Amino acid sequence: MNKHFFASKLIEWYLRHKRDLPWRHTRNPYLIWLSEIILQQTRVKQGMPYYLAFAEKFPTVQDLAQADEREVLRLWQGLGYYARARNMHKTAKIVHEQHQGTFPETYSNLLTLKGIGPYTAAAIASFAFQEQVAVLDGNVFRVLSRLFGIDTDISSNEGKKQFTKLANELIPAENPDLFNQGIMEFGALLCTPVSPQCMFCPFNNECIANLTGRQEVLPVKAKKNNSKERYFHYLILKSDDKLAMKERNMKDIWSGLYDFYLLEEKEFYSLETLLLKHDLTELFGEATLEKESLTYTHILTHQKVYARFWHLAISSEKSSEIASRLGISFYSLDEIQDLPKPVLINKYLHEYFF
Ligand code: SF4
Repeated sequence: MNKHFFASKLIEWYLRHKRDLPWRHTRNPYLIWLSEIILQQTRVKQGMPYYLAFAEKFPTVQDLAQADEREVLRLWQGLGYYARARNMHKTAKIVHEQHQGTFPETYSNLLTLKGIGPYTAAAIASFAFQEQVAVLDGNVFRVLSRLFGIDTDISSNEGKKQFTKLANELIPAENPDLFNQGIMEFGALLCTPVSPQCMFCPFNNECIANLTGRQEVLPVKAKKNNSKERYFHYLILKSDDKLAMKERNMKDIWSGLYDFYLLEEKEFYSLETLLLKHDLTELFGEATLEKESLTYTHILTHQKVYARFWHLAISSEKSSEIASRLGISFYSLDEIQDLPKPVLINKYLHEYFF
């Protein structure tokens, strides 16, 4: 397909069908970057309130850089992939401290910033500074692979190189921002993963997938099954109307967020066996078991978490010994409301405590 024909038809389609989204009304690199981070692996509908909340609370990169990490995580709560929020906060600090609060203006300089990868750098460079550099996300891979009938595995290095080269050959010097927005919007609205609307597609006479009936098999992506199953035993320790919470460490999911005291095993055990295994029987000798939950399942991208909760009432005399031995702290329910928490824990708290 002729590249000028493709770019002009795509931009024409985009201008007619695009959704009116707040980050499309700005050339401010900070707000564009914010929207791109929030929308990674997130649907527009889910990400929109987060974008609006962050843009209001932290209108400049300086505001975000100077915020407390806990405040950032609290505002991010419910969006998942918390490493994104922490990295976003780190990048804001770098821009603030090392670049006087100004984002670099070219793709290659943006790439030198820790926390900004090729996709985000291309998005900022083209949307904010009109640089002729193509973005590649899942939508772009799908559209190009179908249009040009390319069956190289999109998760392979070879595939990434091939699609990057093609996208950069297609992007025009004039309006590269509209081209990039357009191809992603086209993939999100028309050339969708399932049931693409080929009847209404401006390229249905040229698209190889449409002409050969291969819409369902393109793009090709090798399946990886590296999903891991985890068994979380949560002890909800209650003393004087306060609950014990613990900040999670930095080398695991939900790091920086707060959950209950957790004992992780390769399968579920009874409370008795669990305490015995962890040498906690004596410490909890006088605790009263008030409730034992059913199993909750929480699915993450590469992990499936199964969780059970045991509500244990402990005396105020025993609480400080338990707190210092387990590295936990007791919080009132009001204080817990303000702590950043994983969705699973927040849901459970709402079910039984709030
Ligand atoms: S014809 Fe169908 S498969 Fe091809 S680009 Fe258009 S919507 Fe996608």
